[in-house]
Amino acid sequence: MNAHRNGPKSFSDSDAGIDITDDFERFSQRNDIFSRAFWDERIRSAKTDGFFASYRMEAAPRRGDGFTQRDFALRNASWLSSDILSERGAADGKREGFQAPIAYDTPVAAEQMEIGDPQRMSKEIKRIAEFFGADLCAVTELDDRWHYETRVDTRDMSAAPNHLPSGITHVIVLGHEMDAELVATYPSALAGAATGREYSHEAAIVMQLAAYIRNLGYEAVASMNDTALVIPYALKAGLGEYARNQMVITPEFGPRLRFSKIFTSLPLHSDQPKKLGVAEFCNICTKCADACPVKALPFGPPDVSTQTSSIKGVRKWTSNAEKCFGFWAKMASDCAICLRVCPFNRDFSKWRHKLWLKLALSPWRKFALTLDRHRGARIKPSTWWARTK
Ligand code: SF4
Ligand code: SF4
Repeated sequence: MNAHRNGPKSFSDSDAGIDITDDFERFSQRNDIFSRAFWDERIRSAKTDGFFASYRMEAAPRRGDGFTQRDFALRNASWLSSDILSERGAADGKREGFQAPIAYDTPVAAEQMEIGDPQRMSKEIKRIAEFFGADLCAVTELDDRWHYETRVDTRDMSAAPNHLPSGITHVIVLGHEMDAELVATYPSALAGAATGREYSHEAAIVMQLAAYIRNLGYEAVASMNDTALVIPYALKAGLGEYARNQMVITPEFGPRLRFSKIFTSLPLHSDQPKKLGVAEFCNICTKCADACPVKALPFGPPDVSTQTSSIKGVRKWTSNAEKCFGFWAKMASDCAICLRVCPFNRDFSKWRHKLWLKLALSPWRKFALTLDRHRGARIKPSTWWARTK
């Protein structure tokens, strides 16, 4: 049995719907599709270079509704705070929040506040996370299987050590809701503003929450896409369940959110993974796979993947990242059609959607799927702009 096969003991992988095989290998970040777009000639092209340039308004193609200058202008402005953060360590090859953890802006206080009851501390952290603007917050234990074997030095895209300070025991996972009206306009550069805004939000939120914990005298490393895969941590922390579109479906926002995390030595109480019934629903639904313009999502049951850009030895639904990113590059913007069309992409604060959720997560799931058949249509970006007038 592979030495990496077993994680921390409090909750099993299967409690979180995670299926590890004997071939498990930790993932090297150099192999993610965004890193490969810089060093792998099979991925890099004028189109992928244009994709990144479009985020600097250097190559914003004007290709009709949703891809005009103002669509790119709003998307790129939404990313601004995140961009400022990720650029500040560029000279050292550390693109913070993406290819390196966010560096400490404040030290760990010399005096350590005593934590009597970790359960109470977890509740307090959730309250502070909400105060700073997080929409979801849960806690789980550190599990280095999900940490990148190596990170990427962005000066030459080489593999670099991926270490955390010693004493880290827990991970705080935060969820950030994406704007529903903008998500409805995918695919478009305008819709990318929903993604960029949450990266900018989450950058501020994780930095502030981590600073609070350091002020209490404990290690706290703020993290976005860097350092470790967040999806297994979100599943272990009980925030939702994994779906065919490779996203975590939550009972609060469906798949319409982004996740960030904080690695900490603060004594905390872990949340419990939850089995909701999403996998059973995905087994009878292929709306995301049907809607994908490049057929990058699987139609069959979960399986292990041998693709360069996916983790080895985890049986799950896995997209073809090369096809998917190829489409992003062609559009010069991110795509989330598979999020937009998902039946769980609803406003669960409304009673009718709450009722639908109950049906979808019950043996009535087929009926729930039938009820969804006319939903998920794209809103024209020009309609979104007209609403703002
Ligand atoms: S993001 Fe777009 S291209 Fe990628 S899998 Fe989803 S629908 Fe397909
Ligand atoms: S669209 Fe259907 S199959 Fe795809 S993630 Fe959503 S519920 Fe699952």
